[in-house]
Amino acid sequence: MRGKLVVGNWKMNGGLEANARLLRSLVERWKGASGRAMAVCVPFPYLAQCRDVLQKGAIAWGAQDASEHASGAYTGEVSAAMLRDFGCGFAIVGHSERRQLHDETDAQVARKAQRVLEAGIVPIVCVGETLEQRESGHTDAVVSRQIDAVLDALRGDAARSVVAYEPVWAIGTGRTASPEQAQDVHALLRSRLARVGAEHIAVLYGGSVKAGNAQKLFAMPDIDGGLVGGASLDADEFLAIAHA
Ligand code: PEP
Repeated sequence: MRGKLVVGNWKMNGGLEANARLLRSLVERWKGASGRAMAVCVPFPYLAQCRDVLQKGAIAWGAQDASEHASGAYTGEVSAAMLRDFGCGFAIVGHSERRQLHDETDAQVARKAQRVLEAGIVPIVCVGETLEQRESGHTDAVVSRQIDAVLDALRGDAARSVVAYEPVWAIGTGRTASPEQAQDVHALLRSRLARVGAEHIAVLYGGSVKAGNAQKLFAMPDIDGGLVGGASLDADEFLAIAHA
């Protein structure tokens, strides 16, 4: 359901000691409130640490990917059921770094979202265009194609997911979409979601979100919070974003 949500994507960062400090700081200072949620999506090896530190608090945890397969001979992959064993509430699927660096297709992202939902975990489905696609006027077509592939697979179950709009040109670049640019795409996404009755889910913005720009982005009518990369590794910055 639609509510305010901020999710940290640690990417391939962290270590036991640094994580302990960061998680402790978040737990001590984030009390949560109705309609406002926080989660961290961490590398697989640290899911057990998150479970141990976060299980009694107000912060959820999750993974940054999940296999499109349920089980079997897929060396190196991690299934959604395994993520459930470690208490994951969320799993990111279709992050642009996976689409670009690992050639993940729309069809694979859709299957991953299905596996994650079957495990009782909320998929955070990432979509977004490259700079070249934006500059050639293809943003709407690209984002529609990416989200429709997932919605065609999930149908009504899409109402149990979260979507994140992450323009590729804004991820880790310090360059953020303007609130108006982001709002336009979020409104488009919400209209696609309405096709399967999922227009009330949270649609997050991601791409160089910082304490200094979060408030204006999150004030837009179709932006329900953020998927935050680099800034989620700093407790002060991440909490300031969450409070925005
Ligand atoms: C991300 O990795 O999902 C992301 C949005 O990264 P950053 O906030 O660092 O741009």
